Amino acid sequence: MAKLLVTGGAGFLGSHLCDRLVGLGHHVVCVDNFLTGSQDNVGHLSPNPLFEMMRHDVTLPFEIEVDGIYNLACPAAPVHYQRDPIQTTRTNVLGAINMLDLAARVGARILQASTSEVYGDPDIHPQPEDYWGRVNPVGIRSCYDEGKRCAETLFFDYWRQVQLEIKVARIFNTYGPRMHPNDGRVVSNFIVQAIRGEPLTIYGTGRQTRSFCYVDDLIDGLLSMMATAADFTGPVNLGNPVESTMIELAELVLAIVGSRSRLEFRPLPQDDPRQRCPDISLARKSLRWEPKVGLEDGLRQTVAYFRHRLAAA
Ligand code: NAD
Ligand code: UDP
Repeated sequence: MAKLLVTGGAGFLGSHLCDRLVGLGHHVVCVDNFLTGSQDNVGHLSPNPLFEMMRHDVTLPFEIEVDGIYNLACPAAPVHYQRDPIQTTRTNVLGAINMLDLAARVGARILQASTSEVYGDPDIHPQPEDYWGRVNPVGIRSCYDEGKRCAETLFFDYWRQVQLEIKVARIFNTYGPRMHPNDGRVVSNFIVQAIRGEPLTIYGTGRQTRSFCYVDDLIDGLLSMMATAADFTGPVNLGNPVESTMIELAELVLAIVGSRSRLEFRPLPQDDPRQRCPDISLARKSLRWEPKVGLEDGLRQTVAYFRHRLAAA
């Protein structure tokens, strides 16, 4: 049993990670400032003596003795990270420095939740890890994209300079229960709109693509990554390589919900990537990992969650 710190542990992915780590018998300390996460996501863990919740902002230093750190703290949805872009960059950069310093002080292994956004609007498809990306440094997505790129740089400099054991996972679009209904992401938007009988909002032509990974698969990938040999740093792509257009996604959601909502086309946001699909050869080879849950099955579970949540509200 290890003592593990999960920053951003009250968020969508973080809360699933805490569940899994506690289930494996680890002592988990969850640190979150509740910017986009919520006590509701981890409330069921509170009675468990293996789980500890601490309200803290990772842009400020933090002292604790732990064996490993999962650094997930950062708003992930465009509407969330664009609300206070300066704070988003601070969280990515200062948060990374504070957690890396902590890892160096206590000799902990540390995993960074990086993102496919480091590839920007890619001109190579699908994206392998050695592709350096095509990112606008001064656009409305830059606080997130460049913040995450700088965090990766910091991780690799701590690895080179102070021989820290680092793991960098580049996460592609992930969905599932506990997504925030108002986070503006496409999966949550479409499901909520379909359940309410409202039009599904398609940005641009709807022919842009994303590859959607179910949350349970992603958590498997993060655990496998953390368990790799000390000299394995990544970066490793974690995502589902099955690509869909937004129109295909909308039609699938409508069919699963049994909704007759229509599609409503809206302007495409600035710098919205046209296509995104992970090359997961490295994850297959080094982590022996690949997603198991298909989009239809994953969406059914997510729709069930949102039906319950919206009914309760
Ligand atoms: P989320 O917004 O649900 O979770 C982020 C959590 O971090 C929230 O609980 C929030 O309150 C917390 N947080 C934000 N700023 C903080 C700060 N300064 N100090 C402490 N806590 C803070 O998002 P998510 O989808 O669960 O994403 C988790 C991580 O995974 C993020 O780092 C994100 O960049 C990365 N990621 C997610 C996806 C995805 O599709 N969900 C894709 C790529 C990368
Ligand atoms: N999108 C859409 N309708 C929505 C929300 C998003 O068509 O109601 C599009 C968005 O423009 C993008 C894709 O869906 O092309 C994925 O958006 P999301 O915000 O979920 O993730 P990201 O852009 O960060 O990959």
